[in-house]
Amino acid sequence: MSEKLLRLFLSELTTIRIINQSPLCGAVTEIAVEQLGKAFRQAACPVCGNPFSQQTGDPSPFGPLADAIQKLNALESQVKVQFVIPAEE
Ligand SMILES: [Zn+2]
Repeated sequence: MSEKLLRLFLSELTTIRIINQSPLCGAVTEIAVEQLGKAFRQAACPVCGNPFSQQTGDPSPFGPLADAIQKLNALESQVKVQFVIPAEE
């Protein structure tokens, strides 16, 4: 079994999949990075409404994630961020 590595620049990450791990829902939401913070203002499933965190009142981590991606992409002429992803053949 050989392993192939995919290298993905952060700037290539334009769509994110959010997959609710609840066996009662399992909804998959595909969303553009720039919509992420607004769509997931609450850290909850947009389909069933169940919160992803048990801690009520925790700020949603999706907004900061989207902000970090956008801020790093804005610095692309100074720094590039790349993910190295193992992909089994
Ligand atoms: Zn759901």
